[in-house]
Amino acid sequence: MTYSINEEGFYGAFGGAFIPEMLYPNVETLRRNYLDIIQSDSFQEEYQYLLKQYVGRPTPLYFAKRLSSEFDAKIYLKREDLCHTGAHKVNNTIGQILIAQKLGKKRIIAETGAGQHGVATATVCALMGLECIVYMGAVDIERQAPNVARMKMLGAEVRPATSGSQTLKDATNEAIRDWIANPANTHYIIGSVVGPHPYPDMVARLQAIISEEIRWQLKEQTGKETPDMVVACVGGGSNAAGAFYHFLEEESTRLIAVEAAGLGVDTNESAATSVLGSKGIIHGSRTLLMQDEDGQIIEPYSISAGLDYPGIGPLHAHLIESKRAEAISITDKEALDAAFHLSRVEGIIPALETAHAFAALHKMKFNSGDSIVINLSGRGDKDLGTYQKFMK
Ligand SMILES: *Cc1c(COP(=O)(O)O)cnc(C)c1O
Repeated sequence: MTYSINEEGFYGAFGGAFIPEMLYPNVETLRRNYLDIIQSDSFQEEYQYLLKQYVGRPTPLYFAKRLSSEFDAKIYLKREDLCHTGAHKVNNTIGQILIAQKLGKKRIIAETGAGQHGVATATVCALMGLECIVYMGAVDIERQAPNVARMKMLGAEVRPATSGSQTLKDATNEAIRDWIANPANTHYIIGSVVGPHPYPDMVARLQAIISEEIRWQLKEQTGKETPDMVVACVGGGSNAAGAFYHFLEEESTRLIAVEAAGLGVDTNESAATSVLGSKGIIHGSRTLLMQDEDGQIIEPYSISAGLDYPGIGPLHAHLIESKRAEAISITDKEALDAAFHLSRVEGIIPALETAHAFAALHKMKFNSGDSIVINLSGRGDKDLGTYQKFMK
């Protein structure tokens, strides 16, 4: 059984490239070139150099002693929170900006919800001296002022999306429109394992460095490369894809995908796509998404802006449908409790997104002494305002 993408860009029934005709030349150029570029020596040399000296990789794999004894398991934390810009997203933007350069692109566009992917994109554009335009819903611009300021400080232009609910999906639509209008000089850096083929596979490969490191780090620390479980939160699914990638074919390693239940899966205020979603097409790929009977997208809700997406990447839809991965949903309240707990028991303040993965420890069944790797996708500085509201 294999979980790799096929020639047509599908993982089982999910994936593909369902795009307007006018986008075809752009996506096709990327599709024809991305694997050759990623596998070339010159790309690998620059990518590995920047990951090491700019991003700060390898990130540590930390044995969380106090947390482990509470759960009677061996819990290891993959510290993506220590990456430059505070989360895993920069692994992808570093890779994509190098690909854009190899394709001769001079102008970069991106979409962002909470602003984390926008910041990671603005960062690499500054690094490479490329023009950067970030589309962001007008409502999100209001809600995420610090990240808007960061993007501007880094030299990016932040363009408000004023249609629809003025959030992430509207920003994505604006970015796609821009790409159609500027096909020759522009590369669109998508921030997760979503979008038309080859994006899900390309982004998964760029994030795969996470599980590549976990394997040798675990071997170094325990003598064994494969853990009993890998746990990661899923918005679009890029940090989970990176953490799962080199374990996909290791059936002895359980993969746990943790979604945001918001106020609860039965409240209409949720983002738990694997529970509430059905098959459909969103942003160019066939996957699971939250939609009504007419195929209209249902607005997702989560306290964490990074998990507040109405779909999941096609790889995750396939992993969950084929039962290779187990999905767990975690409410706002459970995530907040886990964030406070991790801060006090290990001295690490996680991002709200990441806190969902920690809350899943209470819902997973495992045996005494099992080894569990939790992908600590990002740090909590950006969420302090929210945490303060709930501090006792
Ligand atoms: C954006 C973000 C996520 C969610 O995105 P994925 O593509 O699912 O990884 C999770 N954690 C952090 C810290 C993020 O910034």
